Amino acid sequence: MAAVNLARLSRGPLSIQLINDKHPLGRGVAYGTPRPEHLLNVAARNMSAIPDHANHFLDWLRTRVDYADLPDSQLRETFAPRCVYGDYLRGILMNYLQPISDHHPAEISVVEDEAVDVALNDDGCADVTLAGGEILQADRVLLATGNQAPAPISDSGEEFTHPVYCPDPWGDWVQRIPDPPEDILVLGTGLTMVDVFLTLSELGWQGKLIAISRNAMLPQAHFRGIEYPDFLPEQPENLGLEKLVALLEDHCQRLQRSGEHPGIVVDRLRPHTQRIWRRFSLASRRSGRPGRKSGNPWRCTGSVAQISGRSSTTGSFFSSETKRSRDQKHFMCSGRKIISIT
Ligand SMILES: Cc1cc2nc3c(=O)[nH]c(=O)nc-3n(C[C@H](O)[C@H](O)[C@H](O)COP(=O)(O)OP(=O)(O)OC[C@H]3O[C@@H](n4cnc5c(N)ncnc54)[C@H](O)[C@@H]3O)c2cc1C
Repeated sequence: MAAVNLARLSRGPLSIQLINDKHPLGRGVAYGTPRPEHLLNVAARNMSAIPDHANHFLDWLRTRVDYADLPDSQLRETFAPRCVYGDYLRGILMNYLQPISDHHPAEISVVEDEAVDVALNDDGCADVTLAGGEILQADRVLLATGNQAPAPISDSGEEFTHPVYCPDPWGDWVQRIPDPPEDILVLGTGLTMVDVFLTLSELGWQGKLIAISRNAMLPQAHFRGIEYPDFLPEQPENLGLEKLVALLEDHCQRLQRSGEHPGIVVDRLRPHTQRIWRRFSLASRRSGRPGRKSGNPWRCTGSVAQISGRSSTTGSFFSSETKRSRDQKHFMCSGRKIISIT
């Protein structure tokens, strides 16, 4: 999207070269999944790819026959499949790759290769070396390499290989599901574990899934957004870390006192987070909040909702059906069991 926004906002001629490999162009890891059970974990109302058009994604969804008749209130709270969101991103990009009119002064071209090195040359420009050996020159280089596959699990740094081990959760593990069903162990108890579970469920796999992580925290079900006044000042990026945290805490407490979910505050912050982060000093970025106990970082919204109700967007599967034993948590899911071990 950085390439699209550069092209969109440029006033003069601009040549943008987009270097991409491995994952589908414009979709990346997250939105390159072809599986419809992999949902966005953010409601549609907060997923516009165009920062200055808050409803851009909602309007695009409306153009699709499967969303055309959804009441507005429902559409806003929908957790769309990530592959649908990938269609959206890819569609926007295509407008710039193959424009139907030539009034854009900027042009984007695609290079399908891996960038392996970037170095400043004597002209003050950058040389970008590709795996294929070609060197591209550029006045500016923007690194947008995104999510990487997990690091090797062995301490030695050497790649661990075994016939039953799949190192990349976003790779082709579906082809290697044991048949007849045996237990599957997932390292990690976050959203990708939920994706794995949903896919196994869709495939009718009947084995047991064991998920392990250091803290065994599981994603929590999302909450439904409520009408809450936009409490942030016009330019929240100017507040600075301390004032921003104080403001957020104040509104979290107000929401809690009125029985509403404090996460609504984070929801309201979302459209501004990039600008806020950019404005923070390095010290602010680095500073944790010592003594503060972090909560569960993941919200599993759509996926959890899909497991528990298929049609609901406020599923409470993980929270309401948890049975704790000493060091194990059992999660019943559609009559099947996930165990998470600390
Ligand atoms: C499983 C998953 C689900 C997610 N779900 C959500 C969600 O629901 N909502 C949300 O807001 N965010 C979600 N995210 C976060 C989301 O991925 C990011 O916000 C966003 O997609 C990052 O975009 P990006 O362009 O920076 O990186 P990516 O989308 O990862 O794209 C980077 C691209 O660069 C390529 N690349 C990397 N290195 C090189 C190289 N050296 N040479 C050439 N090409 C290279 C990669 O192959 C890839 O195609 C999710 C992330 C993951 C992993």
